[in-house]
Order: sequence, then structure tokens, then C-alpha cells
Amino acid sequence: MVMNYICVECKSTFPLESHKWKCDCGGLLNLEFDKKPVDFSKTSISKNHSLWKYIDTLPLEEADVWQEVTMGEGDTPLIKLAENLYAKAEYYMPTLSFKDRGAAVLIAMAKKLGIDRVVADSSGNAGSAIAAFGARAGIQCDIFVADSTSDKKIKQIEAHGAVIHKIPGTREDVANAAIAMVEDTQVFYASHIFNPLFWEGTKTYVYEIYEQMDGKLPEAFIIPVGNGTLLIGAYIAFKELLDNGQIDKMPKILAVQATACAPIQKAFLEGENLVSPVENNGTLAEGIAIAAPARGSEILKAVRETNGDIITITDEETMQARKELALKGFYVEITSAVNYAAYSKYVAKYPELIDQKVVLPLCGAGIKSN
Ligand SMILES: [Zn+2]
Repeated sequence: MVMNYICVECKSTFPLESHKWKCDCGGLLNLEFDKKPVDFSKTSISKNHSLWKYIDTLPLEEADVWQEVTMGEGDTPLIKLAENLYAKAEYYMPTLSFKDRGAAVLIAMAKKLGIDRVVADSSGNAGSAIAAFGARAGIQCDIFVADSTSDKKIKQIEAHGAVIHKIPGTREDVANAAIAMVEDTQVFYASHIFNPLFWEGTKTYVYEIYEQMDGKLPEAFIIPVGNGTLLIGAYIAFKELLDNGQIDKMPKILAVQATACAPIQKAFLEGENLVSPVENNGTLAEGIAIAAPARGSEILKAVRETNGDIITITDEETMQARKELALKGFYVEITSAVNYAAYSKYVAKYPELIDQKVVLPLCGAGIKSN
């Protein structure tokens, strides 16, 4: 399989063995490889209950090392919450968050490339996922987190044998510390923001929904957005399904940010193509509190292309939504409740939504936050 990183700016290409995480021109890298359309007549009866049943659209092959790395990630349930409203329970995962999808694909590729050590930075969940799959694959992980990260997440990462680097300051300071180590040591940067292998994993939740809805996608997805891991993954899957003629229109991406840290919404409302950093004024939704998202332009493009929108939710609204979800049986991480809070606001803004199918991914388990 021919596969390269490709610069989004100057279109230079680099082999994966180069360990590049950014182009020499400063541009971010995407991934190009030959993808085959998924044959859903086969996957729907597959006995493989993991994201790897979509191997035809993934950057690995049937005979690859992924079989030594997988822990059964993916194949999460789609559960009806209300008339036309569905929850994709992404916390049914080995490390209890959707990040396992990206980590499984990225670490499987690292193992295939013969890499024995990786660096990652995270607000918590991606670090846990990389550490767990690294442990499974026998790859040493150095994980950079903010010193304010919840103890529970840090203990989870350490339990997998990863080396924790606690960095004072902002989320951006944490990323810069990780990048400094990558530059110094030339180790593989297992970043869920810079490394495009990650979304090849996260995109699979859309494939599952397509199958769970009998060959259709809902009219809209309501997606929490910070660095855009879930949103860009969804967009990639929409595009693949559209290009393969398996859908005739992309669903709307209705994104959600925290009121206290909403740089992407600001750029969206101002009609900008670039996202300028904002001050993070502090939010309980730590998973999306990203003041300077590296992939901001790609996120804006995806939202606009789907005729989508971006709104913000306060911590008070998020906590109320988290409580309501728990009283329905769904105990989710604080950040995961923002899209449930956003649903009623979006319905007020777009009344037609009440008659359309909408999916909310519930991204992380409740026991991950306090
Ligand atoms: Zn370039």
C-alpha cells in the first residue's frame, strides 16, 4: 500500500518512516493512501466486533500487526435517547473514551514501522489511550499533560507504564514541551492533533452509525470541539462515503464549544478562515478547552462545507445536562455533556431538527471526571 504524509499547504509528500509531524514549510500534514470503499454487506455480518472490520478504509491491511494491538475498540452501541435523537456511546471502550479509536490505529502503525518509543501530549484522554495501546504493543510512551490534569487521568496513564511529564501553564505550553522532546530526540510524535493517522481511527464511528442506521447517516451530528479530533474524523468519513456514492449529502456538523474558551466559534461568526488564539477563561469542560487549535482552519472548512454551525455552552448548562443524562442512565464525563446541552439550543435555533435524526457522540465515561 502506497502511503504518504502530504502537506496541506505546499503539497510536499513524506514517507511515514520520516517521522515528520510538520512540513518544512510549517504546514500541517494529512495522510494519503489508497482507500477502498467499505463493503457493508460483509461488515454487517462480520464476527469482528471492533473498528478493524472497516480495514478496507484504514491505512493498515488484513495481515498487519493491528491484530496484536487491538483490544476490541469500536463497535459501540447507538442508543435512542428521545424521538429522533440518538447517543453513540463512545465511552464503551478499553480506556473509556473515544480516543481509543485513534490510538489503536496510530499505535498499530507505529508498531508496523518498528518504533519502540513515542511522545504524546494530551488534556488526559488521548494520553490514557496512547499509554494503554503503547503498553499493549510494547512501545514506551512519554505523555505530557498539564499539571492541572485530574489525578484520576494521571493515575490511569501511569498505570500503563508511561512516563508522565507534568507541565505548568496552558495546554499550548504542554504541546510545546512535547514538541521540544520530539525535536531533541527525533522520536515518533503520536499526536492526536498533528498526526493524521489518529483520525483514520476516529472516523470509524461514522461508519458504525451508517451501518446501525441501515445504510443511512442522520441529518445532523452535534459534536463537542476543542482540537477537532472527533469532528475532523467525522468529516473524513462523510467525504469518503460521499465520494464512494454511499451517501448523497453530508450531514450537518453542529459543533459545540465552551463559552469560556471558544476560538473556533469566534472565527466562524466573524467569517474568518483562520482561528486566532483566545484566552482560556477556565471551564469544567477541560476536554475542549483549547485556546489555540492547530487545525482551526480545517475545522471551520468542515463545518461550513456541511452547512453547519457552532454554538457555545456554559459550565452551568453542561453540568445540568450531565445530571439529566445520568438520570436517564448515562454517566458521562463533563465534557461529554456539552452536546446534550447543545441539542435543545440547536432545536430552538433550527426547529426543523425536531423532525430530523440527530446523533450525539458521548465521548468519555463519567468516572473520568470528578
Ligand atoms: Zn509544506
